[in-house]
Amino acid sequence: MDKSKNHLERRCPRLGGAVSFGYCRASGEHDTACWKIFDCWWEHFDIVEHLKKCMPEETFIKLVNAKPKPKMVSLVEIIEQAQKRVENQLK
Ligand code: SF4
Repeated sequence: MDKSKNHLERRCPRLGGAVSFGYCRASGEHDTACWKIFDCWWEHFDIVEHLKKCMPEETFIKLVNAKPKPKMVSLVEIIEQAQKRVENQLK
């Protein structure tokens, strides 16, 4: 997997703070990319080509067709992911 862009940062419209591209590519369901990754990164580099190269075709197609979840479900997931990150940092 190409991790050369993982260090890039931008403001996350969902969280309100800065996140890395590495976070965006792993913050979706089952550690896949966030469904907004194309919207958030297209101005920074060729996100479509980058992800096409980095993931299996089936995963890429699922991501292209991903739909936003209801806000409440999305918020619960963000909280759970934040809890996991904190737990992993404490290990
Ligand atoms: S791709 Fe998702 S996690 Fe990353 S900045 Fe956009 S909304 Fe936030």
